[in-house]
Amino acid sequence: MKKNKNILNLNNARKKNQADVMKKILNDGTCPFCEKNIEKYHSKPILFKTERWIVTENAWPYNGTKKHWLIIYKFHIENIKEIDEKGWKDIGEIFNRLDKEEGLDYGVFLMRFGDTTKTGATVLHVHLQLVQSDTDSASYDPEVGVTTRIG
Ligand SMILES: [Zn+2]
Repeated sequence: MKKNKNILNLNNARKKNQADVMKKILNDGTCPFCEKNIEKYHSKPILFKTERWIVTENAWPYNGTKKHWLIIYKFHIENIKEIDEKGWKDIGEIFNRLDKEEGLDYGVFLMRFGDTTKTGATVLHVHLQLVQSDTDSASYDPEVGVTTRIG
């Protein structure tokens, strides 16, 4: 059995090419969100890092979004109980920086942690999704809005 079998949940993949990348990662037996592996599998550039987090864009943004950032804990942790004081402080700094550089006049964020069969996460490694919808985009359905599985 691969040692990362319980870290990845293919049932929560939203796109076929996402599932294909996940199958490769499963075969490699690694965690794609750990800092030492992130650039091997993640196709988007790293925007910046703090002491505890990596800030990048989601490679598979939700439909109808203008911006979809992915903020990943640098080290392999699976639950928010493992985020230390510096980790929580860094989140505030990340939001302040993104506000200054990109503008966060509105948005939604959610943090995925714990059992992926109950969170909709593809990777069992603490990460944040920060999303701004784009109501003018062709992929935005006003009947549905921006949706994602959260459980
Ligand atoms: Zn990891």
